[in-house]
Amino acid sequence: MNWLDTDPALGAAGWPHGWTTAGGPDFRADPRGPDMAAGMETLRTAAGLRAVAWVHQVHGGCVLRAGAPGLAGDADALWTDVPGLAVVGRGADCPLVLVGGSRGDGAAVWGFAHASWRSTVAGITASLMKDMVATGLRAATVRALVCPSAGPCCYEVGDDVRAAALAALGGAATTYFTRRGERWLLDLWAANAAQLVAAGVRHDAITFTGLCTICGGDRYPSHRRCGDGAGRFAAFIADARTP
Ligand SMILES: [Zn+2]
Repeated sequence: MNWLDTDPALGAAGWPHGWTTAGGPDFRADPRGPDMAAGMETLRTAAGLRAVAWVHQVHGGCVLRAGAPGLAGDADALWTDVPGLAVVGRGADCPLVLVGGSRGDGAAVWGFAHASWRSTVAGITASLMKDMVATGLRAATVRALVCPSAGPCCYEVGDDVRAAALAALGGAATTYFTRRGERWLLDLWAANAAQLVAAGVRHDAITFTGLCTICGGDRYPSHRRCGDGAGRFAAFIADARTP
C-alpha cells in the first residue's frame, strides 16, 4: 500500500504496525462518528488487520485498555491484550509512540501514546507503561517506535509550555528545550523516550523515525505547516494480521 509506511526494526521484531501518509484516509473526522469508522475500516482492510480500536484524543494524561473494536472512550493512550485487535492513534504533528512487549507468560501486550505537549507534560507515555506493566508487561521486552511528528528542529513553544513541563516533569525537563530567539524548541521525541526509559525500556529498543512533519516535506499532514486545514494521519500496532 503506497500510503502505509512501516519501520524495518519494529517489523523485524515481529510487531505488525504502520502509519499512514497524506495520501491515505484523512483521520480528522469526529472520532465518535461514521466518517471516522469508515476511515478506520479502510485502514483495517489495507493493513490486513482483524479489528481496530481507537480513542477520542483530548490532549490529557488518561490511558484506556481496549477490550473490543471501535471507539474505546476519551484518552490519549490505548493498549490491549485482545488477540488480533490493533490500536490506532491519530496525529498531525503530535508524536505517536507505539509500544509492544510481552508478559512473563509470553502473552503479548501492545499500545500507543498520543504525545502532544500537553499529554507529554501529563506523563502520557509513563502512564501507558505503568498500566501495561501493571498487567504483567515486562519492560525489558518492549520495542517502541516514535512515528513521524514535529521534530526538535521545528517544534516551537513559548515560556508557558516550558514552565508547565518543568513543574510537572522536574528539572530534567530543561534538557528537552533549546532557545530559539524569544521562543523554545521542544524535543518531544526525547521527552517521551525518557518516559519509556524511566519505565525500564532499553534505550536501544526505541526507534525514532526521525521524520519531522513540519520541515520534512508534504508526505505527512502537519498542523503547524498547513494550519487548521491540515489532515490527520494514523498509526497502529497489533499482535497479528489476518491469517
Ligand atoms: Zn523539522
